[in-house]
Amino acid sequence: MTFNSSRRSFLTKSALAGVFAGSALSSFGQGLETAVERTPMSSKPSDLKITDIRCGYIRNGHSLFVKLHTNQGIWGCGEAVDATPGTYHLVKMMGQRIKGKSPLNVHRLFEDVRRSGFFEGAQAGMYVSVLSAVETALWDLVGKALGLPVYQLLGGKFRDRIRVYCDTGTYRDNDKSPDNFAKSATDAVKMGFNAVKYDIDERDDPNKYDLYNWTASPGELERMYNQIAAVRKAVGPKIDICVDMHGRYDVTTGRRVAKMMEPLNLLFLEEPIPAENAEAYRQIREASNTPICAGENHYLGHGFRRLLEIGAVDIIMPDLQKAGGLGEAQRIANLANLYYVPFAPHMVASYLGAMASSHVCASVPNFLILEWQIYFHEDPMFKEIVTFDGPMVKDGFIPLSEKPGIGVEINEEGMKKYAPKDVPFFV
Ligand SMILES: [Mg+2]
Repeated sequence: MTFNSSRRSFLTKSALAGVFAGSALSSFGQGLETAVERTPMSSKPSDLKITDIRCGYIRNGHSLFVKLHTNQGIWGCGEAVDATPGTYHLVKMMGQRIKGKSPLNVHRLFEDVRRSGFFEGAQAGMYVSVLSAVETALWDLVGKALGLPVYQLLGGKFRDRIRVYCDTGTYRDNDKSPDNFAKSATDAVKMGFNAVKYDIDERDDPNKYDLYNWTASPGELERMYNQIAAVRKAVGPKIDICVDMHGRYDVTTGRRVAKMMEPLNLLFLEEPIPAENAEAYRQIREASNTPICAGENHYLGHGFRRLLEIGAVDIIMPDLQKAGGLGEAQRIANLANLYYVPFAPHMVASYLGAMASSHVCASVPNFLILEWQIYFHEDPMFKEIVTFDGPMVKDGFIPLSEKPGIGVEINEEGMKKYAPKDVPFFV
């Protein structure tokens, strides 16, 4: 019996039962059967089985791309970042744990792999990052099998386009002058962005007295303020400005910077201190009106529970290519929503990760803004390693893909030349 006829027979039986109950047909009519029958069936999802997992890396292993293959010729793509160098065998091990299974039970497979790794570090770090790529590939696969975009699988969308802030990439420039910060901001606004981000932690700042002590000197504080004040002056009051400190300072400095930035009306101040201590975050949050944001180095829902419970941050920013994947990201966003905390994901992935993140951002009410990288526009690698239809970004928003799955594919041929030579590539 085919899946199709099974469904028809189930519906017929249900309808008959409804006749006896005297209400089902009048309640649902033929509409239900017609709607279910119209759902794309070309990939016979009931027989769909995972047959192989393959992967490739770029950026010295800091970007992992996973492809899940099946017995029906369709595949799913996923991506993980940052906590991924050296994880080739971990990818293969997770593949063994899901091989032969149907990809349709995404939450169950995620939970199977997570639980099977309790003693292998499944609480955070590399294990969870790799799992994020695998889980994302499962969603892509299911979307393709059912003919639906991932946001639809996640319960539908609140919005058709995803607002992004542009990380301006000034961290790569040698010129750290306020004028250069201001120029990059006006350039981004000319490109259509209505929000920008800047890094103000500078390891090589000559005003720094000690590389290990985390208290910023008066000279460093002045440099930070002047850089962001120049941006505010250049873009005016209506453009949002985000500022990142990369967790490289202490509570004293975090409080000072948050207070100092108040007149500049930031959208958020990101990671003034390292990720581990939620109580320390709360001290900074309570010291000023500048919204405090953290989360790119937190993992799974567990990593965000304490932050939210004690009111440690104003905004959470899980990295969806790191924190546990798309389903876990939606659970984190929904948890934050109970505390009326906005969800503003971190994103340093390729355009595959950007669109995967966008599906989650579309699916939750408390989405605020998603990170976008100027490197998509400057570095040809990011266009060569994926294939997709349509513009990546338009007027500061990502148009949400309506294609089955994520809507962006790995381009193995394009990616190959950027892959590390000493790691197997999609074999
Ligand atoms: Mg950051």
